[in-house]
Amino acid sequence: MNSAGRSVVVVGGGVAGLNAADALSRSDAKVTVLERRPYVGGRAYSYLHPALDEVVDSQHVVVGCCTNLIAFCDAVGLSDKIRWYDRQTFLEPATGPSGTRASTIGPGSLPAPMQYAESFLKASMLKFTDKLSIARGLREFIAGFPALDDESAAQWYRRTKQSAGAIRHFWEPILLATLNDSAENCSLKYAGKVFHELFLKSSAGGRLGIPTVPLSDFYAAGADMIRAHGGIVELRAGVEHLVQQNDGRWLLKCADAEYLADDVILALPYEQTQRLVAGVSLVSANGEAIRSGLADSMSHFQHSPFISILLWYDRQITDLDHAWLLDSTIQWFFHKSRIRGYPEQQGSYVELVIAGSKTELPMSRADILEPALAELKRFFPEAGRARLLKSGILKEARATFSVTPGLDQFRPDQQTEIPGLYLAGDWTRTGWPSTMEGAARSGRLAAGSVLGERTRFLAPDLPPDGLMRWVAKNA
Ligand SMILES: Cc1cc2nc3c(=O)[nH]c(=O)nc-3n(C[C@H](O)[C@H](O)[C@H](O)COP(=O)(O)OP(=O)(O)OC[C@H]3O[C@@H](n4cnc5c(N)ncnc54)[C@H](O)[C@@H]3O)c2cc1C
Repeated sequence: MNSAGRSVVVVGGGVAGLNAADALSRSDAKVTVLERRPYVGGRAYSYLHPALDEVVDSQHVVVGCCTNLIAFCDAVGLSDKIRWYDRQTFLEPATGPSGTRASTIGPGSLPAPMQYAESFLKASMLKFTDKLSIARGLREFIAGFPALDDESAAQWYRRTKQSAGAIRHFWEPILLATLNDSAENCSLKYAGKVFHELFLKSSAGGRLGIPTVPLSDFYAAGADMIRAHGGIVELRAGVEHLVQQNDGRWLLKCADAEYLADDVILALPYEQTQRLVAGVSLVSANGEAIRSGLADSMSHFQHSPFISILLWYDRQITDLDHAWLLDSTIQWFFHKSRIRGYPEQQGSYVELVIAGSKTELPMSRADILEPALAELKRFFPEAGRARLLKSGILKEARATFSVTPGLDQFRPDQQTEIPGLYLAGDWTRTGWPSTMEGAARSGRLAAGSVLGERTRFLAPDLPPDGLMRWVAKNA
């Protein structure tokens, strides 16, 4: 397929759409992004909260193995807006006479796949039997992870007799943070991928990167770069109808404008994709009506929610930038004021995360906030002495899709059966769970497919290092 000078409309300015448009804007295609909201970034967004009078967002993190997202950030000039951390702190809450206990996990002097062994051996959060259990479990992912997605992570816990402590203090927190759902609802394929990439394959795969600016400011750089390459980014441009004309070109109708394109990339979540394609009368290259399986496949996806609790204190409550909170309904603590480099005198601005929060989603603000404040004091006693200046709760009911066992067969390819129609979005077939990296990959694969070379814009995976150079089969 020769796409020289073809016009491509990308519908959706989330991470997938921005990656697709950025890639195409560097070729000779004419690119237009149509985004319904007044800002880009999609689910990775920030906004001015009117009641709090603050620009707020739900913390998004990236890890070292997210090579496509990192390549995008490098290309659009965002590298200096990510703060990287090699070590992570796991905190056990104070109970009775014993205070908070901290375990630090990070790479040591041993080569991959043993880079974390020294820190695991020292970790007080795990008993000796838990450490043996984790070592036994991780050994299963040294060479890679399952190709099939039929087994759940919970079935694997039982099959490999993982200890309760190993599950509670290691497997479960990591799964919730990366796959945003419980082990029953996550296939072992994606759980194994996380453990292989973050803890075994290389010393850099598990590094944690946190944006140092609010997310819409962060991703605005992507839109600026697309414009700098001659592309167009239209905000407040929600596409309401999609019509394929007799000449094969696409007519996209917004409330007050229409756009014509040779090719369309729908870089949308699955429901919005379903809605737009449902109205299209689908005709194949030889003019026959197509009964598309697309809409059916989307009915197999389910959402998992995410809740962020934002707190502003009058003083510093800890000198940690972030921490995993164990034995708590809160999994993660981000000290946003420190990560963003705000002056200490401004106090602490923190975010507490409840991932996969199906139980908490219907709860009232007070029912979420009060226990969270009590929990926080168990980890950071200074929070009990500090004055809480303001607080907010962000609920994202449709934060991610769950990588439920058996879902892979329903994740569509970026190239559809309909000529000129392509899909992107974290939910499409990328081999990644619902993440910004999955979205970035999908956008790049869609852009490559438009130009007839699917993987043209895909960044290489992080290479294995240490002893893993000889054993990692998925490398
Ligand atoms: C609270 C929260 C925390 C998360 N934490 C992390 C994390 O730490 N790390 C991580 O990697 N991932 C995280 N994720 C997941 C990550 O945000 C998503 O996987 C990723 O952003 C999805 O990008 P996308 O482009 O596929 O879809 P989206 O971000 O949903 O983008 C779709 C875009 O299309 C637009 N749109 C919809 N309909 C139309 C229409 N008709 N016309 C025009 N535009 C339209 C939408 O406004 C949106 O901008 C988190 C998600 C949430 C919600």
